[in-house]
Amino acid sequence: MSDSKKLIYAGKAKDVFETENSDEVIVDFRDDITAGDGAKKDNLQGKGHCNSLISSKLFEVLEENNINTQYIKLIKTGSMLSKKLDMIPLEVIARNIATGSLLKRFPFEKNQKLDPPIIQMDYKNDEYHDPMLNDEISIALGIATQKELDEIKKITLKINEVLSKFLKEKGILLVDFKLEFGKDKDGNIVLGDEISPDTCRYWDINTLETLDKDSFRQGQENVMDIYEQVCGMIVDEEDAKRWKI
Ligand code: 5GP
Repeated sequence: MSDSKKLIYAGKAKDVFETENSDEVIVDFRDDITAGDGAKKDNLQGKGHCNSLISSKLFEVLEENNINTQYIKLIKTGSMLSKKLDMIPLEVIARNIATGSLLKRFPFEKNQKLDPPIIQMDYKNDEYHDPMLNDEISIALGIATQKELDEIKKITLKINEVLSKFLKEKGILLVDFKLEFGKDKDGNIVLGDEISPDTCRYWDINTLETLDKDSFRQGQENVMDIYEQVCGMIVDEEDAKRWKI
């Protein structure tokens, strides 16, 4: 993007630009893909396009279920007009099935169902490699208050319920996912960032095949085919036509 607009933040796969309205930003989804703290990198043409469509759809589903998100609208594929948030440096992870780093750190059984789901908070900080937090550490670091942490956990459980149900209807099992929250100008906690195959584990509900970034982490060659497949499963026909998928 974004003509002469000022870049406010450049992440590993997204850029955030200012707009004329100081309460709004443009989030651009890039084609870059990284794993292992940025150790593994690539550029997959069309990934930003897919992730912007998937995130927009899932934000819309959440808004319909009265969950506050940053999403305003998709300006064009890859480019999302969003509310400007003061981001909280937490990676809020919800897990329905034991896999990934949970198995490396704790004696869970592989693919064990987690009911109730586990909510885990990591400190979003590259220098410290995103360490796991507890409430006391978050409060002592000034990341959030107990009331805010409780609210974030409650919203995350609701998001898990809404998205698990929606994705199940699309043939996708929501295994786990990572969320990031911020505060709007009135201090409300609002969901930010993205919800895409970069930030979630999606498994095919019948075959349990990976439909997300684990394909890249594992070195598969068909990563972009998988992103396109999952985009087609999540984004409905009307939107697909509108955005010329
Ligand atoms: P795990 O802790 O098992 O590696 O990841 C749990 C879930 O959170 C996965 O869906 C993973 O994609 C997501 N996740 C955890 N940390 C990060 C991160 O730093 N970046 C991204 N994009 N996703 C993450």
